[in-house]
Amino acid sequence: MKTNYHTHTLLCNHAVGSVEDYIKEAINNKFDIIGISDHARIPSYIMSENDYTSEHLDTYMTELEFNNIYLKDIRMCQKKYTNIKIYVSLEIDYNNLLHSHYEYLLGILDYLVLGIHHFFADGKKYNSYYDLNEDNVILYAKTIENALSTGYFKYLAHPDLFLYSINNPSKNCEIASKMIIESCIKNGCYLEINCNGYPHYPTYFFYNIASKYKGTKFILGYDAHNPKLLKGEHIKPITDLITKLGLKLEEKLDFLD
Ligand SMILES: [Zn+2]
Ligand SMILES: [Zn+2]
Repeated sequence: MKTNYHTHTLLCNHAVGSVEDYIKEAINNKFDIIGISDHARIPSYIMSENDYTSEHLDTYMTELEFNNIYLKDIRMCQKKYTNIKIYVSLEIDYNNLLHSHYEYLLGILDYLVLGIHHFFADGKKYNSYYDLNEDNVILYAKTIENALSTGYFKYLAHPDLFLYSINNPSKNCEIASKMIIESCIKNGCYLEINCNGYPHYPTYFFYNIASKYKGTKFILGYDAHNPKLLKGEHIKPITDLITKLGLKLEEKLDFLD
């Protein structure tokens, strides 16, 4: 079985291709299941205008686009293409002020993709790509623990994004990795092996630690920002890493029908 639960669309303004373009390409490449999970625009009241724009949240699809284009396109494709199972999702960050928003979305969507691109701790905003170092990575891991303990998220995208700017991960990065992996196991959350961050991630460092655990549910995520990437021509380094570490991939998210 061939699946991908992490797919963007042009509505996020940094990807190309409509919902239907991705679905056609998925069918051409013999996928059995595709989940569309574009970036969610979250309510702006929870942070300063400056933080909102610096995290590009103002460039993601509007509520109007979500209702009138995104959901409509996906529903249309679900009717039109019956030889592939199509799920509807969004990729979203965690903020403890957004619980009612997650509940609202889960009333519409099949699942939420959790991606910690930024987070708040001790009254300060951290960008997971550029603001993390050996001394503060635990804050990233704690955010994931808090998010997963809510039960809203069963799919964690690019868990090792925190290593993006860290060249020589050491003790605290190891602790953070263990916190993230153990939290996924405890909460029945799938741990993604992301195909869109190479060579920054997936990292040998993180998945080597994960490989030592029993009960980790690894799932391959294309995180496709271009329909062509569903051909998978670029994923050899990632499949090599999977083979090297002997990771066993799950075929599908078993909580979905
Ligand atoms: Zn993106
Ligand atoms: Zn993504």
